[in-house]
Amino acid sequence: MVARTEQQAALRALPSVDQLVRALADRRELAEITRPRLTAAARDVVDGERRRLLDGGGVPADAGELATRVVDRLRRGGPFSLKRVINATGVVLHTNLGRALLSDLAMRRLTAVAAGYSNLELDLATKERGSRYSHVEALLRRLTAAEDALVVNNNASAVLLALETMARGREVIVSRGELIEIGGEFRIPDIMRRSGAELREVGATNRTHLRDYAEAIGPDTALLLKVHTSNYRVVGFTAAVSSRELAELGRQRGVPVMEDLGSGCLVDLRPYGFPYEPTVQEVVGTGIDLVAFSGDKLLGGPQAGVVVGTRALITRLKKNPLNRALRIDKLTVAALEATLHAYEAGDALQTIPTLALLTQPASAVVTRARRTLARLDAETRKRLGAEVVKGVGQVGGGALPTVELPTAAIAIGTSGAEAQRLDEALRNADPPIVARIADDRLLLDFRTVLSADVAPLVRALTAVAHSAGDA
Ligand SMILES: *Cc1c(COP(=O)(O)O)cnc(C)c1O
Repeated sequence: MVARTEQQAALRALPSVDQLVRALADRRELAEITRPRLTAAARDVVDGERRRLLDGGGVPADAGELATRVVDRLRRGGPFSLKRVINATGVVLHTNLGRALLSDLAMRRLTAVAAGYSNLELDLATKERGSRYSHVEALLRRLTAAEDALVVNNNASAVLLALETMARGREVIVSRGELIEIGGEFRIPDIMRRSGAELREVGATNRTHLRDYAEAIGPDTALLLKVHTSNYRVVGFTAAVSSRELAELGRQRGVPVMEDLGSGCLVDLRPYGFPYEPTVQEVVGTGIDLVAFSGDKLLGGPQAGVVVGTRALITRLKKNPLNRALRIDKLTVAALEATLHAYEAGDALQTIPTLALLTQPASAVVTRARRTLARLDAETRKRLGAEVVKGVGQVGGGALPTVELPTAAIAIGTSGAEAQRLDEALRNADPPIVARIADDRLLLDFRTVLSADVAPLVRALTAVAHSAGDA
């Protein structure tokens, strides 16, 4: 009975949400936080405390303590939900961290177009209605030697649009070895069903031959589809049909052929130690009718799905009403035009961050990791057990899955539990730092740490080392 009375007194003594908000309204550190968010956070904190007391949670927090909780929570969250993070995973194309970073030129073009009016769909010469695609079409034609091009929201929608346009209610022939699933619910058989096309699988998981396609072609065949196995490799006793052979078969039999290239790269990366991957222009050169690829994988531009191919087929895609639902906005056009411009100007490897990060020599990554380690004070280094270790990273984004990129990391933490704790603390830093745990250590991989990231990284490491010491 006594306990119950005490509990009720504690509940009554809780400040109201309103009181808490008023007490916090003028805090300088919350200047960027909107009033509704402050109210919502105050309500969460008061509700949480009430639940704790009802569960018999002991000593009630006073108003000052509750105010501190609200401030901590809002400061940690910051004024915006989507924010810059430091990518210390070493994965250059990290889908969860936003994939490709835009070049300086793309940023300048974005800014120029975003805040003002533009000739997005106005032909300035004739004052007639223009096409938003016109700003990138000619570039794509010149870069890939395709007759025509179209850009939609992403590569998944490019594939959907192509299937829906060419094969709804009809059959599409695909090799069993290429029925891929990539992250985020994109599966070739599912997208096929959604488009209304019927999947006709041929061959076996490890081997598909030209005759498998040839024998499957019938009056209902609308398309032969080749899909890049972006995020895995079938190795061992394997056989796949080349783009050229498939294009030739399609031509002989009067069936269009499409290749979903996934990443789609415009430069040969072999000189930088990468394995052979056909470039978009090479695939176009094999005679494939339509080639689809992502804007924000190896191309290094904004999220987009690019389709290049024959004029007749691209015209059909453009006329499909579904295309209107998948259309890109002016920001995408601006960033994509700038990205493609770099390829034509010949400075893509230097100016497009994705390519620059992927092709930086391992020695440069080691040097940056070492220099950053040297910027940590001796006490921080000691407390964290920080040292530079060499290892291998990944390209990511479902591109070049078997490639092991030589890289270097600062390893911190000396037990699994400590690595976990440091990982969490760094994810709560401002800006948040995302790293990877391996062998009970937290690895901060420097392939993806940008020069602007070094100072905040040093600050955050120093802070977590010292809070670790106090705990
Ligand atoms: C990544 C990928 C897609 C999807 O591309 P998004 O631009 O992410 O929509 C489709 N097909 C393949 C083979 C891919 O690798």
